[in-house]
Amino acid sequence: MWLFFDIGETLLSEKRFHTVRNKGLYNVLKSHRKDLTPNAYDEAHRRAILCRPEGESSRVRAIAREVLGENEFYKAVLEYREKVGHPLLNSLEKDPNSFFQPYPEVREVLAYLSKRHSLAVIANQHRNVRNLLERTWGLASYFQFMILSEEVGFKKPDREIFLLALDRARVDPSEAWMIGDRVDTDVGPSRSLGMKAIKIKHDSEMSVIEPISDNEEPDFQFIDLKPLLNIF
Ligand SMILES: [Mg+2]
Repeated sequence: MWLFFDIGETLLSEKRFHTVRNKGLYNVLKSHRKDLTPNAYDEAHRRAILCRPEGESSRVRAIAREVLGENEFYKAVLEYREKVGHPLLNSLEKDPNSFFQPYPEVREVLAYLSKRHSLAVIANQHRNVRNLLERTWGLASYFQFMILSEEVGFKKPDREIFLLALDRARVDPSEAWMIGDRVDTDVGPSRSLGMKAIKIKHDSEMSVIEPISDNEEPDFQFIDLKPLLNIF
């Protein structure tokens, strides 16, 4: 069996990053709309997530658009980039550990599964993540290979990135599982190719996205990775 893992909010918690982003974005948006309350921000954030934004910058744009409307949001997005986004990315490069952390069960689960199955990564990630998984967290050795969107030029939910992974593993989709936190980018496309898929909830911002097709219904859904020890 081949088990393919997503990275963000499946293996690595991004909670600290999201907390800093949301605080910074809230302050920028409040300077444009004085009556913005934390609750109204949270509600706009939830609606933005339900629009299924792909990367970090599209999340920020979607939240700003929800709060300020179509005509005004781009000014706040530019301001956010300058005041919060760029400094945040700089500190992230210097000290990724202070923003991203493997979830507590990750090492034990990967160590166990990698003795019984072949593991690999399919993730929408920057190429730097390869170094981090190898050097900072020592998790890369559990995987036969890692497919990172920035390196291959395809990203989830494109079917090509899954086909590439299946081809590299030389495995039939019926013998392959995708494990990730998003029904739209992890579960849906993998199941549409005949793989099975598991949704991991963790503290993922994206876990509020509900399936809109049969393919997006995961075969299993768990709070964290620990139940994988029982089913594989
Ligand atoms: Mg993810």
